[in-house]
Amino acid sequence: MKFKINVKGRILLTILFLIIVSLPVYADNLTNSSTNVLNYFNITTSNYTVSNPANSSNSSSTNSTNSSKITVDKLDILNNATEATINVWVKQNKYRENGGLAGKYEANPFSRSFLVRTVLNNSLSVVLSSNGNQGITHTSTTTLKCGITNNNKWTMISVSFDGNKVIYYKNGRKCDEDTTSVKMLYAASIPLTLGYGNNVELNGEVDDYKVYRKALKIEQIRRLYEENSKGGDQGNSLTILTYHQILENGSNASDHVNKVNFTEQIEYLNKSGFKGLTVAEYDQIRKTNSSIPKKSIIITFDDGWKSIYEKAFPILDNYSYVATNFIVTNYANGSSGYISYMNWSEVEDLKDKGWDVQSHSVSHKNLINLSEEEYRKQLNDSKTILKDKLNVDANSFAFPFSSSNQSYTEICGEYYDLCWTKATKASSPSYVYKNTLNVFSSLKRINIGFDTTLNWFKSMLGRDTDIEVEGNKTGYT
Ligand SMILES: [Zn+2]
Repeated sequence: MKFKINVKGRILLTILFLIIVSLPVYADNLTNSSTNVLNYFNITTSNYTVSNPANSSNSSSTNSTNSSKITVDKLDILNNATEATINVWVKQNKYRENGGLAGKYEANPFSRSFLVRTVLNNSLSVVLSSNGNQGITHTSTTTLKCGITNNNKWTMISVSFDGNKVIYYKNGRKCDEDTTSVKMLYAASIPLTLGYGNNVELNGEVDDYKVYRKALKIEQIRRLYEENSKGGDQGNSLTILTYHQILENGSNASDHVNKVNFTEQIEYLNKSGFKGLTVAEYDQIRKTNSSIPKKSIIITFDDGWKSIYEKAFPILDNYSYVATNFIVTNYANGSSGYISYMNWSEVEDLKDKGWDVQSHSVSHKNLINLSEEEYRKQLNDSKTILKDKLNVDANSFAFPFSSSNQSYTEICGEYYDLCWTKATKASSPSYVYKNTLNVFSSLKRINIGFDTTLNWFKSMLGRDTDIEVEGNKTGYT
């Protein structure tokens, strides 16, 4: 990859760019479906100033000596792409009509592919070409102000293309969309230019480019915003792992994980610098509006199996991780038939070693089949019993089988701060935070099962965005 940066004192940037890698970041890790392949190109420009000449005019600057566009040769991941997302942070000093944000676009024959630029003061224009010679221009509705405000504040602009629509996003939120007749982006053999396009520079600063060969979904773009340090107070990515039984030789069951695999996973977390959070700690972070520490992970265990105590604990303890137990109070009571589960003294022993204890109901029934009265009793009694037996205030409830509906999830929010339901689809509620009735879909508990490969496990961690992964066959129990 070669870069030409026509601005003095930017040698360091050249070095930065030279270490850019064109990454199929998660693609190789997603073993089950090629539809999840996410080609990805990332540039962190350290607040690169594109152009701010003192006497800048609004005209395009052809061959300007002040030209400071960033040029990236051989960006081919969008060649013939039928889906794409361009994501960039920008800060504008002074508005310039048609100032390019990113593009592979010149007026010469076979040099048109795509261009994102700022137009009409605070709108966006996206030009796409499928043949390299004609560009189809799409412009966001001016009253929606999808472009950069001239306020010198960092703004995240994202544009996605899916062969049918162009969607404009501002600061992680959908702003507008246009249908397009372009089905595929032309493979123009010119470089990608950043902070520049079709001969016009942006008048401002740019940073953190991400280019995807995929039309990211709304919630993914929202997370790009939230996870960026410029993106405000919404915290960082947080992966929540759900385990059940850790066995020497598990069967092919969704709640079994072989000890050797579990060890490998925890070793990987430790080696990669992930820091453990408990559910209670996470709850405090939310309550106090604090930031989630970078590279945090929550390890949870459902049902309170004895193998957690006997097998999982020593391994976690070896790496100084503590986890969270979601306990079924009837199981822990140790009445006949529940000998495979931890008893209260074992749960308490883990609690004394720093583990968190939360509720997974009284009797592990499918709660949506219960009357509201019976259901409320499960919520209330399990909380009371945990207080009596362990002196813990459970503030989180995991639904057995992850089975809930909107109404029961909201009722749960009367008793608990966090109510975890299911997480297979972004459209399904993941949890409800107490008294807000807000459904958060991005924070998911990911079930680790017998069939979870290490590569798949790795792909779940520290993600930039929530890529829904098919083939996670394991259920949520
Ligand atoms: Zn369960």
